[in-house]
Amino acid sequence: MDPKDMHPATLAAQAGGVIDAQSGGVVPPIQPSTTFARNRDYAPLNPQNTYARDHNDAVRQAESVLAGLEGGAQALLFPTGMAAIAGLFRTVPNGGRVVVQSGIYWGTTRWIRDFCTRRDVTLTEVDASDVAALAAACATPAQLVWIETPSNPWLKTTDIAAAAGAAKSAGALLVVDSTAATPILSQPLALGADIVMHSATKAINGHSDVLGGVLIARETSPTWEAIAEDRATAGAVMGPFEAWLLLRGMRTLPLRVKQMCANAAAIADYLADHPRVDAVLYPGLASHQGHEIASRQMQGGYGFLMSFVVKGGRDAALAAAGKLNLFHRATSLGGVESLVEHRATIEPHSGIPEGLLRISVGIEDAGDLIADLGQALGQ
Ligand SMILES: *Cc1c(COP(=O)(O)O)cnc(C)c1O
Repeated sequence: MDPKDMHPATLAAQAGGVIDAQSGGVVPPIQPSTTFARNRDYAPLNPQNTYARDHNDAVRQAESVLAGLEGGAQALLFPTGMAAIAGLFRTVPNGGRVVVQSGIYWGTTRWIRDFCTRRDVTLTEVDASDVAALAAACATPAQLVWIETPSNPWLKTTDIAAAAGAAKSAGALLVVDSTAATPILSQPLALGADIVMHSATKAINGHSDVLGGVLIARETSPTWEAIAEDRATAGAVMGPFEAWLLLRGMRTLPLRVKQMCANAAAIADYLADHPRVDAVLYPGLASHQGHEIASRQMQGGYGFLMSFVVKGGRDAALAAAGKLNLFHRATSLGGVESLVEHRATIEPHSGIPEGLLRISVGIEDAGDLIADLGQALGQ
């Protein structure tokens, strides 16, 4: 069966259907060699491989699974999500212009602000979940429009198709950070995005043991070729061990995402009714600002990420986090284990409510997680 015709569950479970030709193994081997030999006529023994900075079988295999899952032409893996973002933004010329969604992953905002200052790039930050505001920001030409949906940690939902139209009017590429949606729930390229980005550190790997990032293009373009060239020459590459672990993690991606979404939906319903909770930010709730758009552009669930605001502010939120037994108090998201984070501690100046706790819901039993939240908040 052509991988193009496979459903995501099949593509992921067989990790692209790679059988190791040499051993017959149903999983690919890890090839740690940094360099590859030539024959006596000086032709490479394997024409795909000369030096591991640009040629790595496990990386190529993981990329082909990711491109398949997103319905893209090509994928490029990077050693972290931030390296993928930096690789993309380095294609913006000095003196150029970018439009970036406000209130997104703090590491992205912080790095892009610094990059734009250093490179004399005009940066317009806009609440892209507001279609009219994004259109207005795109009235002036730009090279890139960057959105993140659902956003972390505000869980705002941005209309990808509308953003694609706005980006096009500015002559810009639309790039979507789809980390919180995963390739299973959302397909930004089919909605008009030019490039999708994921922190593969999160749900794609899913086991909190690999750093990785990926860009996936709907079609190749001069910008895409420049990103690939820069990755190879500047050396922002993933190693074979990480790529192999990523391939292993991805085999269960659809199953994990399904369970995480079901657990998150049950927790959101529970928290929405809790007397010690002021607000629950989760696109799956009918009361959520972006519920209607999320229902249109997410299939099979609304994700595993949510934030809620504890009544009583900072002290009450930290006290609740301190009482949790199952949720680990740790940053990051998308792993099989549930995590909780007090975001105001991490980004004190970004306007995050002091009482906000962000949770990443894992694959544990939903009843156990709800009981843990119940005892921590006080029933
Ligand atoms: C974690 C994260 C990133 C950065 O990825 P790293 O792998 O940590 O470099 C970017 N965007 C979002 C939404 C994230 O959650």
